[in-house]
Amino acid sequence: MRPLVLGSAGSQPTPKAGCGCRLCALARREGGRAVRTGPSLYLPEADLLIDTPEEANQQLTGHDLAPRRVAWTHAHPDHAAGLRVVQFLAQASGRPVEGWLPRPLYPVLAERYPLDHLVDAGYLELHLVPPGRPFELGGIRVTPLAHAFEEPVFAYLFETDRVRGLYAPDHLRSLPLPEGPLDWAVVQMPIPPLDALPFELPPEHEAWRTFYTFDEALEVWRGRARRLVFTHVYESVRMTPEELDAVAARAGEWVRFAHDGMEVAPEPARDEAARLEAFRAEQARIEAAYADDPKRMRAELRRLWQRFKPRS
Ligand SMILES: [Zn+2]
Ligand SMILES: [Zn+2]
Repeated sequence: MRPLVLGSAGSQPTPKAGCGCRLCALARREGGRAVRTGPSLYLPEADLLIDTPEEANQQLTGHDLAPRRVAWTHAHPDHAAGLRVVQFLAQASGRPVEGWLPRPLYPVLAERYPLDHLVDAGYLELHLVPPGRPFELGGIRVTPLAHAFEEPVFAYLFETDRVRGLYAPDHLRSLPLPEGPLDWAVVQMPIPPLDALPFELPPEHEAWRTFYTFDEALEVWRGRARRLVFTHVYESVRMTPEELDAVAARAGEWVRFAHDGMEVAPEPARDEAARLEAFRAEQARIEAAYADDPKRMRAELRRLWQRFKPRS
């Protein structure tokens, strides 16, 4: 799988209209990686666009893409406000775009955006799917994972027999994390280490409750994801791409911050020692998690082995 991060911004783009901060000034002056549009991902193997931020049309035209399928994570404007791009895609192809939507998200999305209009006009063919259950697109099993959040938010797990990936761009703290190992995970960025942040973040700030810290994020994903890409990069964090690169480098090669147009590199060759280490880490996690439920533990261990056993 070769997912493409079309947009890497957090809830607001960089540069932002009227903003004179150093980051927006840099983005206006130099462009390049400092410019970030709303968060979205394209998965070529499934011909699937995840989320339609305000800049969805620009993102697709910039990469000369015309996906046949769209799915949404949630109804916040940075993920959904550009959904009229569906109309353009349908007009261009002469057939409706397939919209894949976890059922609980439908009423919220339809209340805030002209979703039903797109359906009535024949631009969108909705497939409402149950959360937590995989459906198949172009040979890829896609599972919407429900966050424990006050309104419907979903992450997406992508699986083939050989590769597994996760896109969880926002509200990450409320996602019950899927079991590893994942070949790639593109997830909401954590709070950068305090010594790298260009401002003070007081201990009472609510960010501490809603985000992982950098160290927590590494702890969560180490052994669970071979390649970790932090997206939803907040303009308000005011850090340049180079400053973020330096933060990622503290963790090592497997961690990166996203930029618009980033192709998530193909999985590094499966080094046997690393595979074994990941297997043992996952085994230990399962044994701890189901210590009081031996039956479930055995089932989880069997599933783990199915994923890890050598393939001919
Ligand atoms: Zn967002
Ligand atoms: Zn700014």
